[in-house]
Amino acid sequence: MIRLKNEKQIAGIRASCKLLGAMYRELIPQVKPGVETIELDRWVQNWIKKAGGKPVFLGVGDRKNPYPAAICISINNEVIHGIPSKRKIKNGDLVSLDCGIDLGGFISDQAVTVEAGRVSDEVHALNVTTRECLYKGIGAAKAGDRLLQISRAVQGHALAHNYGIVRQWCGHGVGFDLHEDPQVPNYPHGPNPRMTGGFVIAIEPMINLGTGDVETLEDGWTVVTADDKHSAHWEHTIAIFGDHTEILTDALEGLPGCGGGAA
Ligand code: MG
Ligand code: MG
Repeated sequence: MIRLKNEKQIAGIRASCKLLGAMYRELIPQVKPGVETIELDRWVQNWIKKAGGKPVFLGVGDRKNPYPAAICISINNEVIHGIPSKRKIKNGDLVSLDCGIDLGGFISDQAVTVEAGRVSDEVHALNVTTRECLYKGIGAAKAGDRLLQISRAVQGHALAHNYGIVRQWCGHGVGFDLHEDPQVPNYPHGPNPRMTGGFVIAIEPMINLGTGDVETLEDGWTVVTADDKHSAHWEHTIAIFGDHTEILTDALEGLPGCGGGAA
């Protein structure tokens, strides 16, 4: 069931999204060669708690194997759900960050892919195009239109560049919980509700240099590309109103190593 949000509730989700953006603005400059990803997670946990929020990813999932961190850090061939560890970021790594905050019961969700040092031209192009796919999807998110218009827009841009689209994972409704209906796939598939004012959704293309096939590692979380090629991931939380669509999360324009391309 899709839970529509009223203006007051969207204001709460917007505040959560702005807080998440403020966190990312301080975090992204720290994503540099030599840093252990676990250090970044510790910093994120402290920052969110000090700001009065809760790290919403911490402890989600199966009770037997809850997610152990506040942020997902997925490097190179890792697509999503990379667990922070003693692994050090290297020059040329493609580092995707995905995080959410619970602020007074309102949930935000955003992912960005940061280039640590200098990545190859091929990898940079993947990152730029994945971010463009996100904005193409957002451009198709309008009250009165069908949801899978978003999926078609994302898919069309990725296929025009011959990239693989991850099909097993997708965007989602968000705001009261981290994952709500509807699913927002990155290719047209499944239910296709009409979008209306009060929709709050996370759009999140996961785009691969090779095929779209992925696998999950034995840790039960880390999703990697089946062919070991690079993957990029960008995500915004957006709200749809009767007469316009608003990106609630921060565009993070101008941050170092944060891709580029048209917004
Ligand atoms: Mg996310
Ligand atoms: Mg999400």
